[in-house]
Amino acid sequence: MNALGQRIAALIAAQGPISVAEFMMLANNAYYAARDPFGAGGDFITAPEISQTFGEMLGLWCVQIWHDQGKPKRKRLVELGPGRGTLMADVLRAARVMPGFLDDLEVVLVEASPVLRKIQGETLSAFARAAPPHPALSPAGGEGKTWEPPSPPRSGGEGRGEGVVPFRWVNQFDSTLMDRPFFLLANEFFDALPIRQFVKTARGWCERMVTLDANCTLAFALSPVPAPETLIPPDRRDAPDGSIYEVSGAAISLAVDIAHAIAHNGGGALIVDYGYDEPGFGETLQAVSEHAFATILDAPGESDLSAHVDFLALAAAAKVAGASVFGPTTQGAFLQNLGIVRRTEQLIASRKPADLSLWTDVDRLIAPEQMGTLFKALAILPTSASIPAGF
Ligand code: SAH
Repeated sequence: MNALGQRIAALIAAQGPISVAEFMMLANNAYYAARDPFGAGGDFITAPEISQTFGEMLGLWCVQIWHDQGKPKRKRLVELGPGRGTLMADVLRAARVMPGFLDDLEVVLVEASPVLRKIQGETLSAFARAAPPHPALSPAGGEGKTWEPPSPPRSGGEGRGEGVVPFRWVNQFDSTLMDRPFFLLANEFFDALPIRQFVKTARGWCERMVTLDANCTLAFALSPVPAPETLIPPDRRDAPDGSIYEVSGAAISLAVDIAHAIAHNGGGALIVDYGYDEPGFGETLQAVSEHAFATILDAPGESDLSAHVDFLALAAAAKVAGASVFGPTTQGAFLQNLGIVRRTEQLIASRKPADLSLWTDVDRLIAPEQMGTLFKALAILPTSASIPAGF
């Protein structure tokens, strides 16, 4: 057992079994805090790391929503779990097509990992330098600090030059983000949020816990006492024995907060992730390390723990909080509706010699047997909104 495993074992010895959610939170906090997990040399690869067109389409989506809502002023662009900062760089570059969007925009990166914050700062700093008229941005500041260009901006005004965007980092989405309209993006963020698992048995729905076996190593066990029936949605209570119900309280409460803010301030949110769009009864918790499945309990914090996102639960939560939802639709349909094929043709035409590997990358994002169907997109918008682009 590794050091985190020993700490978790001590916790269980001291206070009793912990939920799968608590285990997942402890393991993932350690996992993301210590490493850059992305890419060929890492543990997994995400859509923005596969093709720049993914972030470009999401950027166009944001500016279109902003335009549709009458171009509200003093808005934020918020990203949950920005990884290497690649998606945000592509979004900002694409957003330049809409005059005015970058003016009075604040970018907020919701990221708990110090390692990834640093990489995000570097990615976005390089992006700004490589792309005039953005002056270079200084390295990441501390929590909540606004990150402004180190030198006076080129065109005066209120301390900002044309196209310069202030950035700041926060540890979590919280009420300080609820005082202005925001356009929020979350790609492969919700799957990392902790889930609880309940297994249907002859006794009722029993929670799966993490405990210690006779050798004092971490092991799964079912709670001997069934959970109160009110924890299980009515349409799932009569499932056959052996069924598993997974629920992420963290994901649902985040969807409620985001939807509540959007219902009051305007703006919009786009959640893209792998997940299901009908009530599921299977186990989806998985550990991934070096692009392969790993065991969940053996080396906590050394592999990425994730679970498929329950899009219907997020949609229902957003509606209860007073917003409208669109989708979930498949990632393949969403990206094609936004014009990813045409954009890829443009990119290929602009490169000499033509680089046909761009098709392979985009195919990976949209083909049904690759990421196109498993991954889905869900939009949260104010109730006044009409059907957004892509849906
Ligand atoms: N969106 C990126 C990365 C997805 S990986 C991409 O598409 O490439 C998940 C990201 O969410 C990482 O940046 C991770 O550090 C962050 N993260 C995971 N759990 C978090 C939490 N509870 N709070 C804040 N950030 C979290």
